[in-house]
Amino acid sequence: MEIACLDLEGVLVPEIWIAFAELTGIDELKATTRDIPDYDVLMKQRLRLLDENNLGLPDIQKVIAELKPIPGAPEFVDWLRERFQVVILSDTFYEFSAPLMAQLGWPTLLCHRLEVDAKGKVVDYVLRQKDPKRQCVKAFHGLNYRVIAAGDSYNDTTMLSEAEAGILFKAPDNVITEFPQFPAVHEYDELKQEFLKASNRELSL
Ligand SMILES: [Mg+2]
Repeated sequence: MEIACLDLEGVLVPEIWIAFAELTGIDELKATTRDIPDYDVLMKQRLRLLDENNLGLPDIQKVIAELKPIPGAPEFVDWLRERFQVVILSDTFYEFSAPLMAQLGWPTLLCHRLEVDAKGKVVDYVLRQKDPKRQCVKAFHGLNYRVIAAGDSYNDTTMLSEAEAGILFKAPDNVITEFPQFPAVHEYDELKQEFLKASNRELSL
């Protein structure tokens, strides 16, 4: 049995925080796991900037509602779900992702959640667990699944290593250089080919 694990931001949808930073003009909010590999350091900085700029969850959700998946992503997800069980493993938050997940046909998403007070202020974030993407792959192994995983950034590399096959998709050059053990592709057609190569079944386009 095989299961496909996909990262969300940078793979299927744009980086949500970058889109939000562009609309609000808060440049520091453009930092992602590509720039700051320590996720806790990155999130504390984001919450501080939201607080300093008096921005709450409704403001963020207004931006996200205008975002579209990366062109070709919904079709790719449909293609993949016909051939594999598909789970999205993301370091985003359920509160952020709903408008985008709707556009992807609501595939299963395992991620984190935010704590928001009655006025909409984001007061904290709750990580489901430490090293969540790797833990998911381990759990699927415990359920006797063979895992093929794709992601674009530092927070995906433990997932890619733990999986039977890991693929870098639309990754920046520094990540590709640092992790030469993973094939790196940039288009959905190439990603389909990598999934077919990594599968131990006879699958076709
Ligand atoms: Mg990503």
